[in-house]
Amino acid sequence: MHRPPFELDTLGQLIAAHESVLRHRVLAEIPHLDRTLPLYSVELGSQSPGCPTVLFVGGVHGVERIGSQVILALLTSLLHRLDWDRHLKQLLTGVRLAFVPVVNPVGMLKGSRGNGNGVDLMRNAPIEASDRVTFMVGGQRLSPRLPWFRGHNGMEPETAALVDYVKQLLAGSSSLMSLDAHSGFGLTDHIWFPFAGAHKPIPAVGHVYRLKRVFEASYPHHGHYGLAPQSRFYRTHGDIWDYLVTSHSGAAPFVPFTLEMGSWAWIKKNPRQVFNFAGFFNPQKTHRHHRILRRHTVLMQFMMDLAYARALEGVPASELALATEEAIRLWYSRGPGPAVGT
Ligand SMILES: [Zn+2]
Repeated sequence: MHRPPFELDTLGQLIAAHESVLRHRVLAEIPHLDRTLPLYSVELGSQSPGCPTVLFVGGVHGVERIGSQVILALLTSLLHRLDWDRHLKQLLTGVRLAFVPVVNPVGMLKGSRGNGNGVDLMRNAPIEASDRVTFMVGGQRLSPRLPWFRGHNGMEPETAALVDYVKQLLAGSSSLMSLDAHSGFGLTDHIWFPFAGAHKPIPAVGHVYRLKRVFEASYPHHGHYGLAPQSRFYRTHGDIWDYLVTSHSGAAPFVPFTLEMGSWAWIKKNPRQVFNFAGFFNPQKTHRHHRILRRHTVLMQFMMDLAYARALEGVPASELALATEEAIRLWYSRGPGPAVGT
């Protein structure tokens, strides 16, 4: 069986080996046993406050290691391309790339969804769903021993660190597009955007619709993604991206995406994975692992290229209004979907 190294070690080694070209910070030190584990951010490219930013996030749920691995594979590839790739160097003169590949290092070390306190970080932000949430899955305050625990003490250090960092990026960018990589829901790859707690459009929904059309026209053979508001699938309290969208008052367009890799397909092909909790969320066969690590490179490069093209900046108001109408017709004209999911 293919067993990759602990993702935080991989990230630490990448930072050490490429210190001259990347900027890294420790956003928080997360206690674990008698030591702490660092919650790193890494940045490449422009530091100008007037430039667009693309943020890649992984490892919010510790058991979903493949999410971290997809982000780390991207970062590794970019760092090596910097040796020779003049397109990439040019792109980085006009774009900031930010990475938080391992948001929940303790959960990842332990192989648990929640952090060291048993809190599900994606249910832990200070925001209540306004629509009826999915029972249990929507977040619960009964016990940290049950999944989807929201926590009792406000934001956990990991949640607070990610929230603060995204707010800093928003304040210092002309636009922010993010991709938060998860696995475990359904048979196909989904891309979700907020809200998770209400079936209503986010302010940037017109941008989301425009990006969908541009992606479909530019990469017609990469249409394996289902793009929709998360509320179409299940509703939750405490979603970090809901909270960030709601608290963002600046002018910079903010488009947060969640990539939910459809790991049930990996189980269908390899049913023995159901006997292995981590296998439920991660591909176990080497060939499948490689395929998944490369499966999203077009999408991630597309996001970077869009930012370089300033696709979110300066869209004429009339065009954005039209796109918003189309988006509402497409995604909100019928009610939220059935309350199912993980
Ligand atoms: Zn997840």
